[in-house]
Amino acid sequence: MSHTPKLLIHGGAWAIPDDMVAAHERGVRNALDAGYSLLHQGASAVDAVEAAVAVLEDDDTFDAGRGSFLTRDGHVQLDALLMDGGTMRAGGVACVERLRNPIHAARLVLDKSPHVYFVGRGAEEFAQAHGMELIDNSELVLDRERVRLEDAQAKERAGLPDLTFAGDDKSPETAVELASHDTVGAVALDQKGNIAAGTSTGGTLNKAPGRVGDSSLIGCGCYADNASAAVSLTGWGEPIMKLVLGKWAVDRVQMGRAPEQVAPDAIAYLFKRLGGHGGMILLAPDGRFGLAHNTPRMAWGICDAQGPRVGIVID
Ligand code: ASP
Repeated sequence: MSHTPKLLIHGGAWAIPDDMVAAHERGVRNALDAGYSLLHQGASAVDAVEAAVAVLEDDDTFDAGRGSFLTRDGHVQLDALLMDGGTMRAGGVACVERLRNPIHAARLVLDKSPHVYFVGRGAEEFAQAHGMELIDNSELVLDRERVRLEDAQAKERAGLPDLTFAGDDKSPETAVELASHDTVGAVALDQKGNIAAGTSTGGTLNKAPGRVGDSSLIGCGCYADNASAAVSLTGWGEPIMKLVLGKWAVDRVQMGRAPEQVAPDAIAYLFKRLGGHGGMILLAPDGRFGLAHNTPRMAWGICDAQGPRVGIVID
């Protein structure tokens, strides 16, 4: 039986300013086009997710790939995970500095390694051994981000609250107003009925080198299993990790709950339990889906037989 393919995308959940809305919507639409055209031709969900996430990594608008937030010492350090719900194969990389598209490295781990997760230099060397080019970190760094980092560090020196790195001792109310979360992700259902998920991020602005957030951790910012659902998250990483929120959500779908209800419930639980903020896209193998965020805006997109839709708020 052939399934009607579906692709959902997010491009971060935060108070996206008015003058950045068009760029977010354009980026999400481009990613939908790239991923959905593959699904339409019969490609696998994991291929479509990888392609869609790569488009978002290549777009400077988002905190993934080039243009990501900088670490405290001025580097781009990237994390990504890709998971195939049909085979339960997964590939993750974290703290990579010399790869243009960490989602492609994640795909190589998924396809070619008996392991699931590589970090730092080992991840870069694995990717290079499988044909990926290693670049200089400066190719990923934008002047816009150097300025952003200087501003954040000036505030830190002035003794103003450090809201740029929303650690768990910070006020969530203030953090949500100021902290931007432009991580990207996708979930897909292909014609064979398989689902997949991917998430890619530069993490949080002014993060300590070596810090890893939720995005690339299995069950936290990303998960896929044909027996339950595919999920990708964005937002304040530390609380999401502690709640293993992606797995929390897919488990409830497996228990028979509707994804359209589970997604807002998961985000409500994130806030109620730990004061966290973020957004989620969730897709079941039967095509039912949920989107939710408790930030002022979330860049989202969906494409299925009805064509592409994009937006910045879920009502
Ligand atoms: N969740 C990401 C992290 O904590 C940030 C984001 O979603 O933008 O690394």
